[in-house]
Amino acid sequence: MALAYDGAIQRLIDAFSSLPGIGPKGAQRIAFYVLGAPDEEAQRLVESITEVKQKVRFCDVCGNVCETSPCAICADPRRDRGTICVVEEPKDVMSIERTREYRGLYHVLGGAINPMANVGPNDLNIAQLLNRLQTDEVKEIIVALNPNIEGEATTTYLSRLLTPLDVKVTRLASGLPVGGDLEYADEITLSRALEGRREV
Ligand SMILES: [Zn+2]
Repeated sequence: MALAYDGAIQRLIDAFSSLPGIGPKGAQRIAFYVLGAPDEEAQRLVESITEVKQKVRFCDVCGNVCETSPCAICADPRRDRGTICVVEEPKDVMSIERTREYRGLYHVLGGAINPMANVGPNDLNIAQLLNRLQTDEVKEIIVALNPNIEGEATTTYLSRLLTPLDVKVTRLASGLPVGGDLEYADEITLSRALEGRREV
């Protein structure tokens, strides 16, 4: 059995190591940093976690994170209401916003189809997307999912679902690093993929 600290410090290490991207050593380093930090700094950390859990919610329209629904993008009259860019996660909205090329709206699925993790179409925010298509404002759906197996499976599923409807369905051009996440693509690559999007 691995050696463990007693009580609270070990519980903090365990809490940090359960976070994505933090291994046991990193968790130990952060826990000891917190232990040695001034009380106010540790308190700020606690408060920001509490605040995010209390205030942040998901936009009723697009599923993006926000503090008031509809979110700032959905509520912005300058955005092009004829285009919806479908992404997996809120962080992907940020990746596409950073390109400064896209002026349409978004729809956040909340993941991708992944049979290995028991995630099917019904677990994703797809019904809400279909609802949004009830208005004749939407002319184009850009499917911008991660260039990996789950993203591909979901893109195929969505294009079958959406193509019979009276809307143009496009996807990002290839050229994104395969197997990765949109967030790892630099702005220029993502910008080009968006610009070179093709109909499915
Ligand atoms: Zn929204």
